Amino acid sequence: MSVRLAAVPCALLFAAALASPARAEWMERTEAIMGTRCYAELWADDAPRGNDALDAVMDEFRRIDNLMSHYKPESQLSQINAHANDQPVQVDKELFDLIKLSTHYSQITDGAFDITYASVGYLYDYRRHIHPTEEQIRQALPAVNWRNMLFDEEHHTVRFEHPGMRIDLGGIGKGYAVDRGVEILKARGIGHALVTAGGDSRIIGDRFGRPWLVAIRHPDDPGKVVTRIPLSDSAVSTSGDYERYFDEGGVRYHHIIDPRTGHSASRVRSATIMAPTATQTDGMSKTAFVLGAEKALEIINRMPEYDAVFVLPDGRMLWSNGLRPPAPRPPGAPLPTASPRVPPAAAH
Ligand code: ADP
Ligand code: MG
Repeated sequence: MSVRLAAVPCALLFAAALASPARAEWMERTEAIMGTRCYAELWADDAPRGNDALDAVMDEFRRIDNLMSHYKPESQLSQINAHANDQPVQVDKELFDLIKLSTHYSQITDGAFDITYASVGYLYDYRRHIHPTEEQIRQALPAVNWRNMLFDEEHHTVRFEHPGMRIDLGGIGKGYAVDRGVEILKARGIGHALVTAGGDSRIIGDRFGRPWLVAIRHPDDPGKVVTRIPLSDSAVSTSGDYERYFDEGGVRYHHIIDPRTGHSASRVRSATIMAPTATQTDGMSKTAFVLGAEKALEIINRMPEYDAVFVLPDGRMLWSNGLRPPAPRPPGAPLPTASPRVPPAAAH
């Protein structure tokens, strides 16, 4: 995954343990679901309840995957892809609502986020190093247009108006799943937790008076961190060109597709978005990636709930107005003793 929480210093865990009831503890779980690494960590009053809560989050991830995966032929999403070119396909309200919500992001981003990208996207296979020819893209591209999805609000049906259309919720489904996981934990009275699926995370509360530290990795070196962002009660998503990709002839073919061209987007190396929910941050991270930093910042700086950090192709970083880059060190000033940290975002 692209955003990782920095390891928590043992001293901090120890201090937190002393301040809390005897059997309370941090508990964590990692599982492979939705084709990615899913992780949850929480502060539990007692271990059995903590375990039950972690089970419930992972069960919810599996349920959502069974409903929305385009890899599973029996999922409702696959049923849409198989039949919506011929007839309206009825689906659960939950899936219907998420598909409709995705069109909201398409609308506010002028189509940079578009789940019908999959009409071209399915021609790429990053594991097997396969990409479409220009001719294949030219033929498939007219099917990429979110406006060609027709919805029936009463019967919860989806129909495609253009032949060859496909949809894929890989750009918003994990964020949605993370939000569902957070709701489940909150309903169980959990007040301190992190829930992650792939590049999408959401945090409940803080670490007993301290924020969680979210690390943004170096695009070319998974072991290097370019910055850490302190967060509590917030969601964060990163989209990067280093997650699923292959290089060929000096071109990087990766999993974030510009719906206008059918090619992998290349304006930034990574886009990290912060906002209250992971559905928001997941949707907007693709958008920011496709639009590029300047255009995306125009949109994000108008939406007070959102913040963003970009790593550009030349290695520079750009920040939304709600975040401040570390002040430049005056000439002759002593070197900082700790690694530079981003001051807390005013918006959080
Ligand atoms: P992760 O899957 O690790 O959370 P991202 O949030 O960056 O990573 O999502 C990448 C996924 O988004 C792709 O694998 C694909 O399913 C989907 N996607 C790619 N381009 C677009 C786009 N322009 N609009 C909507 N979804 C997209
Ligand atoms: Mg994501």
